[in-house]
Amino acid sequence: MGYIVNYEISAFIISIITMTYFLLCPRLKNRQSVLFFAIGIIVTVIPVLNISAIFIDGKGQDIFITAVNMCYQLMLHMLPCVMAFYILELTGKLTGLKYRYIITVAVPYLTVAALICTTPLTDLIFFIKDGYYISGQLMIVVYISYILYAALCVIILLSSAGSVTVKQKYTVIALIVIQLVALSIQFNNNEYQVIDFSAALSLIIMYIAMQSPSEISDPLTKSYNYSALVSILTEYINRKKHFYVLGYSVNELRHVNEVYGELCGNELLLHMSRTLGSAGELARIYGNEFYVIIKGDIPVNKIYEFAESLPKTLHIKNYEIPIGSTRVVLDSVHFQSSEVLIEFMEFTIRESKERGDDKTLIADQELIRKYYRRQQVKAAVTRAVSDNLINMVYQPIVDAYTGEVVAAEALARLTDPVLGPVSPTEFIAVAEQSGLILELGKCVREKVWKLLSEYDIRGAGINHISVNLSSIECVQKTVMEDILREAKCYGVDHRLIAFEVTETAAVASKEILAFNLNMMKTKGFEFHLDDYGTGYSSMSSLISLPFSVIKFDKSIIKLAMEPQRGDLVKHTIGPMHGYGVKIVIEGIETETQAEKGRSWGVDYIQGYLYSEPLPKDAFLEYACIKKIADKQLQTV
Ligand code: C2E
Ligand code: MG
Ligand code: MG
Repeated sequence: MGYIVNYEISAFIISIITMTYFLLCPRLKNRQSVLFFAIGIIVTVIPVLNISAIFIDGKGQDIFITAVNMCYQLMLHMLPCVMAFYILELTGKLTGLKYRYIITVAVPYLTVAALICTTPLTDLIFFIKDGYYISGQLMIVVYISYILYAALCVIILLSSAGSVTVKQKYTVIALIVIQLVALSIQFNNNEYQVIDFSAALSLIIMYIAMQSPSEISDPLTKSYNYSALVSILTEYINRKKHFYVLGYSVNELRHVNEVYGELCGNELLLHMSRTLGSAGELARIYGNEFYVIIKGDIPVNKIYEFAESLPKTLHIKNYEIPIGSTRVVLDSVHFQSSEVLIEFMEFTIRESKERGDDKTLIADQELIRKYYRRQQVKAAVTRAVSDNLINMVYQPIVDAYTGEVVAAEALARLTDPVLGPVSPTEFIAVAEQSGLILELGKCVREKVWKLLSEYDIRGAGINHISVNLSSIECVQKTVMEDILREAKCYGVDHRLIAFEVTETAAVASKEILAFNLNMMKTKGFEFHLDDYGTGYSSMSSLISLPFSVIKFDKSIIKLAMEPQRGDLVKHTIGPMHGYGVKIVIEGIETETQAEKGRSWGVDYIQGYLYSEPLPKDAFLEYACIKKIADKQLQTV
């Protein structure tokens, strides 16, 4: 008898330790955890009941012995049933399982439970004789139920072969094998009560096979990490639960780290995670972004009020640190997958940052439409790149005083079979945000290299064709080698293309940008600063980047037609010339504007006054460019 109790005590200790770990460590609050918790409770309680049953056997009153044994049997045989549900959940089969199938899975246990509950009347499962527990004639049924559940688990595993990971597969196999071995030992020799012990071993295996705390939590704030966020969102969406997501992005975290030190930055994140975590389930992704999942039917304005009440400054180590943040709220009803929800959240955070009004943005239908349009444009760019649907047009750039064409800007055009013409401002922005800009840029350059390999632009007095190079392309490690390889491939002097660069917020590292451009400059590449006077163009980029031409944005001419403003522009051009750079003014549509530009001393003019961007053939004709007869390499 002592032998048996030793197994039971070990089972109890193992399950208590496993459950303590499970409850104290970060874990996903999902259905798998709930089922694991249920199994843990059963596995912890059954050794206690069994020890009690053994203890009172032959000593207690019949009614007590019967009650304890009934509870023990009910709990013990519930275990394979709950485990079958756990394995269904683990293999992703529980979601979407119809109610009648759920009942079917429970049938063997319900039958056994009915037999156990009625055994005081029937003596079929067990009965008490002279104060001692005796197995009944139908005790075999409970063993059969165990075997049925084991068979069911094998079927689930086989039917989900493609969708389970190796870890999940071996977990399920181990659980089945352990249960069957324990069952056969106990069936052959009832003295060895090892089923409870094997259940405790299964509990450990299940715990180990679950995502470990480090796999699901963010080390600093102990909130969920990206993969945990995806799991939670996927589960809630699949189960059609209604929830809101509050996205919170700390805008200047890098600045806080640099100015106040990393400890202050960490303190800020910890403080925000505590505050945000009070509203719902919290995840931190990309370092400075938090997602708060708020369940239930709370009015959205309550979440708005909460987001607006979040601290704008924080007192850390004698500093009053400002917390710039972007806050957006999404409603789960609009989303069918976690991927789309997260992508939409990133899009909305970017939108909110662009609006820059420091107001919590609640995603509405208009924003959703805008997002889907963006997705369509993304698909269109992908199609265009793979099916070679990008067309190029060329806009002449003329000498401001002689009107002769001295260069041209190559501009990309996209007419999609589904969407029709898409404006470059729209598709270039989408390409930049989605990483397609590298392929698009290559596509654009190939067309220009091809033109340059076939036509003699220098013979027509044209010095170069300008190609827009996105700042994302500029910071690529291999940008120079790639471009040199392309030029060589077409047998064209790489100096026939000049690159127009616009500084954008997308430049992750100004140092890398400066390094790459300066390195390329030594190989003879030319760079023009595009869209000067707008957005992110700054004095520091003029000084640190090797620009030989500055292109004044088309908005400048519109703004500076008034005498005083014009004078300001004129006075900035003088020093630029002194610095050795030439000036192009863009967007010249009228002779008056052209005259104004000349009065400021600009060198070149680009605009509809001279020509709109032209298709290749029209441009060649406009600029009197001839074909290269012998297709020899053009030299400078
Ligand atoms: P950008 O590089 O500043 O190009 C000049 C834009 O001004 C072109 O717009 C051109 O059509 C327009 N423009 C020229 N003259 C006039 C004028 O007199 N009046 C007015 N209102 N507009 C004029 P587009 O073609 O729509 O291109 C917009 C932007 O898209 C470009 O601005 C450039 O930043 C980007 N882009 C276009 N093609 C490419 C490309 O191949 N690669 C990259 N990375 N960006 C491109
Ligand atoms: Mg340009
Ligand atoms: Mg421009």
